[in-house]
Amino acid sequence: MKNTLLTTSHAVARPQIYIGGKWCNAQSDQRANIINPSTEEFLGEVAMAGAADVDTAVAAAVAAQAGWAATSGQIRAGYLRAIAEGVSAQRTQLAHLQTANNGKPLSESMIDVDDVIATFHYYADLAVELDAQQDQLVPLPSADYRATLRREPCGVVGLIVPWNFPMVTTAWKVAPALAAGCAVVLKPSEITPLPELALAAIIDQVALPAGVFNLVTGSGTEVGAALVAHSALAKVSFTGSTAVGSAVMKAAANDLKGVSLELGGKSAALVFADADIEQALDIVCGGIFFNCGQMCSATSRLLVEKSIAENFIARLKQRIDTIVVGDPLAEATQMGPITSAQQYRRVQDYIAQGLASGAQLLTGGGRPDGLEKGYFLMPTVFTDVPLDSAIWREEIFGPVLCINTFENEEEAIRLANHSEFGLVATLVTGDTTRAKRVSAALQVGLVWVNSGQVIFPQTSWGGMKKSSIGRELGPWGLHAFQEIKHVIFGMPERA
Ligand code: NDP
Repeated sequence: MKNTLLTTSHAVARPQIYIGGKWCNAQSDQRANIINPSTEEFLGEVAMAGAADVDTAVAAAVAAQAGWAATSGQIRAGYLRAIAEGVSAQRTQLAHLQTANNGKPLSESMIDVDDVIATFHYYADLAVELDAQQDQLVPLPSADYRATLRREPCGVVGLIVPWNFPMVTTAWKVAPALAAGCAVVLKPSEITPLPELALAAIIDQVALPAGVFNLVTGSGTEVGAALVAHSALAKVSFTGSTAVGSAVMKAAANDLKGVSLELGGKSAALVFADADIEQALDIVCGGIFFNCGQMCSATSRLLVEKSIAENFIARLKQRIDTIVVGDPLAEATQMGPITSAQQYRRVQDYIAQGLASGAQLLTGGGRPDGLEKGYFLMPTVFTDVPLDSAIWREEIFGPVLCINTFENEEEAIRLANHSEFGLVATLVTGDTTRAKRVSAALQVGLVWVNSGQVIFPQTSWGGMKKSSIGRELGPWGLHAFQEIKHVIFGMPERA
């Protein structure tokens, strides 16, 4: 498999960090190799910065904070739109770069880039609206007073993002933070920092005031932990695993800084007997094999109504066995590799646990024929999965679907809710009344009815239970970076 992208990746992979409006060297000379997961080839070198670099980046953000907060929403919107246009101008290159670094099919990277563009435009619009909303009158029950509402940026924020949707998770944090008037320090995943380095180069070109946006590459245990511990930060917004999210929250508690957490999931897809079966097959496959199943929102538990289960599962197997796994740059490819060697081993370990649990392997389970290099895995499905098994309860974060059946609606809801997570759910049914009833009963932040994995900047992202603290996207994504202040005036004639 030939990687046509090495040139672009080398151009973007730079062993430098971005602080105070400049590319600079990290204080130590440590570097990390970035690997293409579909070829296992070297893509470039990045800096492994440390706590001292975090200090410098936070100091630059602190110096920029007051000036940035004082700009109008209109001015901030201008920068956000310029970033969106910069991303748009490099749409194809960015998609190629992300595919080289993360392994997802090029068509999926294109969707991600479009999402980034839409997110920056959306928060530009909200920044403009902020100007009109500032100092809005609050209706009071007393004529003796007048109250106004101000929405102020919360201050300098630390943003920590993972490797599964590097550009999208970055945009979902950077765009609302900048729109709110916060200066930011971004830490990408050490596995996939190339898309964020490319975004930093675009931000550099739009000449955002120095220090408003800073990027520090490095490990989670060094750079991530130093950022979370930094006393000058008002807040940390984190996306990643539940275990690290919990550690972030504990560390942030030391000086009571705010946190938003987007964590794991073990979401359910519910297919009722009255579903359009073709539509259900599309939704179920997309819900677990898109991005090679490396999605917090993966619907990795499938619940099928017993009366149609045998036929549905047989058709699902036929469909899955035609999924084209391979070179993510090839047009026909529907599933690329897993993003890292570490995650590849982790998913393989879960498959071994599944086999040992007594679950039945319906299809997949190993490396596809003809793909000797790269972290490729066949789409994998288990049926009759014990409800107490690790593969049914824990987030696998790979292309592994676990199936069980239900007798009736009540049991479907009970099984779907029987999880420590509560991010999303998909239900496929021809009955609108049932759709409303089941949606209301599911303990999740987002329900897709006869749809799946579709996201808009206008609708919220986040869940219940151990899946999230707070919500991203929509106005809630902006509010996460704001403080509310009321001013109550005594009326002069009454004073
Ligand atoms: P992590 O939670 O370890 O990583 C997410 C981000 O946090 C990365 O930027 C990471 O840096 C950083 N980080 C790691 N340790 C710390 C720390 N102590 N303090 C601050 N930041 C830290 O996820 P992994 O990449 O290890 O993935 C492991 C599992 O997490 C997956 O298998 C999946 O189950 C889940 N996951 C869930 C995601 C989601 O969207 N809900 C996204 C990604 C993973 P670095 O990469 O440099 O270590």
